[in-house]
Order: sequence, then structure tokens, then C-alpha cells
Amino acid sequence: MENSPHEHPNGLFRVQSTPDKGFGLFALQDLPRGTRILQEDPLITIAKELLQQPHAANSEIASQLEDLPERSRKAFLQLANDPAQPEGLRLLGIYMRNNSSLDGIAREDFEAMTGVFLWFSRINHSCSPNCEASYDSKNDHQVVHVIQDVIAGEELTVSYVKVLSPSWVRRTKLRASYGFDCGCSACVLPEDQGATRDGLITQVQSEIQEYRYENELGSFNFSHRRRLGTLRLIYDTLRDLDIKDSSLGFPIQLALQGCVCDKQLPRGLVFGIMLRNMYLTVLGGDSEETFAIEDQFLKHHPQTIPALEWSSATSTILNMPINHFENWLWGRYELA
Ligand SMILES: [Zn+2]
Repeated sequence: MENSPHEHPNGLFRVQSTPDKGFGLFALQDLPRGTRILQEDPLITIAKELLQQPHAANSEIASQLEDLPERSRKAFLQLANDPAQPEGLRLLGIYMRNNSSLDGIAREDFEAMTGVFLWFSRINHSCSPNCEASYDSKNDHQVVHVIQDVIAGEELTVSYVKVLSPSWVRRTKLRASYGFDCGCSACVLPEDQGATRDGLITQVQSEIQEYRYENELGSFNFSHRRRLGTLRLIYDTLRDLDIKDSSLGFPIQLALQGCVCDKQLPRGLVFGIMLRNMYLTVLGGDSEETFAIEDQFLKHHPQTIPALEWSSATSTILNMPINHFENWLWGRYELA
């Protein structure tokens, strides 16, 4: 009747030891893309600022631990330790190895709080992860969604660093913050393939940056079609790189903004729906991202942008031959 102590009450996964990475989370059944496998409150939270004062932080962890039920306390003490911390700072050592920023761990904005979790802190890293983690700051819990179909028995992974960064950046960050070298499929490519992949990542990063820069400066003299062409290249490169997390939304988001700017209603609606569906799948229906797109664009649209006289009508999409759709969407050609 009782679940095994290592099986999550939702029955979707269990904690299991791995040959080389300590414990990890493993799927107990097939999990299709979009499954929310975890929604969890932090066990202990510490302000980032306090982490700069090791002894004070260690005492704070000790005092929060005392308030936890025995089972949670034990689970915390079983998490991986940082051997570099002196014995007197053991709790801080465990905390430092396992905490994540409470703002979605892969996003790296320097928000104020960090947390350690009973289940979430057991999930291992991959630079090509099958799950994405995001922090729901409204309800104060960590959520994790499957972003690529998982089969029963497979290990569940998230990326501790930005997926869209070259291997040397990922390696340096993982070593410095977590003390390991990643052996995932993206990190053990043959040298020439690894270099090609890093080259594409660097290229697409600078393309996104350049697009944003020009767009913000208002010097974007591209025609609507050229703008979409640029974003389409970025989108295709991200897909070639097998990016499946919410960073695939960058070009879609920029295309949506571009369509509003260029008063292209039907394309704007399609990009809005694409973006909403993507956030719904990888971040969930209650995520800020999904909410923002529904609230700001889809729900009220076009009434909330009343001043805008759309230069194209939604009827454009009607009767469009299905095989023309993608080309039309990304501005390859106009229909009459
Ligand atoms: Zn890796």
C-alpha cells in the first residue's frame, strides 16, 4: 500500500542511485512531452546575500532544519556534500551543492532567493535535458515539465546552466558551481562535431543579440519579410541544435513583437498561439510566461491594441493551402 520510500507519491518517478553521479530521478512510466512531473515547495530557503557569510548561513540552515519533519531532515543530510567546505560548515556544503535560484535554475538572473528541495535537488544535469525546471514565484514552488518524450526507466534531467551556451562556458560553470564534468551526449561529441555545434551556438547567440540590438535602437530597417527571414534562420538553427526548452521561444517571441510592430495581424496571431502552446507545454498553464502571452496578446487581442490599424486581415489564413502555411508564416511569400 505504502509507496517505496524512494518513489514519488505521484508514481511518475523514483530516486535511484547511478553508477557515476550519485542519486538521480528515473521515470517509472512513459512520460510524454508536456507532463508535469513535479511541483514542489523548497525545504530550506536562503537569501543569496546571506550565502556570502558562511557561518551565518550555516546557522540559518541548521535552524530551518530543526523545524523540518525527521524524514525531510534526513533526506537533506543525505544530499551530496561539497568536500571543499570545512566540517564545521557541513550544512552549508550540502546547501551549496544542491541549491537552485528560485527563479528557474537555467535562467541565471540574480534573484534574491535560493532553495533546496527534497526531490528536485536530486535531479541530475544534462546539457541536452529531457525536462525543464521553472520556479513559480506566485505560488512559491518549483515545477518540472518533460520537454522531450521519456520512456520508462530513463533518467530525468534538467540543465543547470543555459542550454544555449557553448561547451566551454557550460564546462566552466558546471565545474565552478557544481564540481563535475558533464558527460552528456552534447559534451562527448567527436571533436569536429563538437566544434560545429559550438560554432552554431555562438552564431545563433550573436544573431539574437544583433536582432535585439537593432530592434531596440529602432534602426531595424528591414522590411517585414526580411525581419521574418532573419528570425526564421535563428529558429531553424535552434531546431538543428535540438533545443527543446523554452529558449526555442526567443525567435517566436521576437516574430510576434515584429508582427505587432509591422501591423501583421494574422501572422501575429499564429506566432502568439505557437508561443502560448510552447510555454503551456514546457512551463505549464500557470506559468507567468503563459499567462503573459494569453493576457497581453491572445485574450484581449486586438481590442487592447485599438490604435493599431492592422494592415492585414485574419482572413488571409483562410483557404490557404496547407503546404504553403510555413512559408507564408515566415514571410517566404505573400498570398494575394
Ligand atoms: Zn553536457
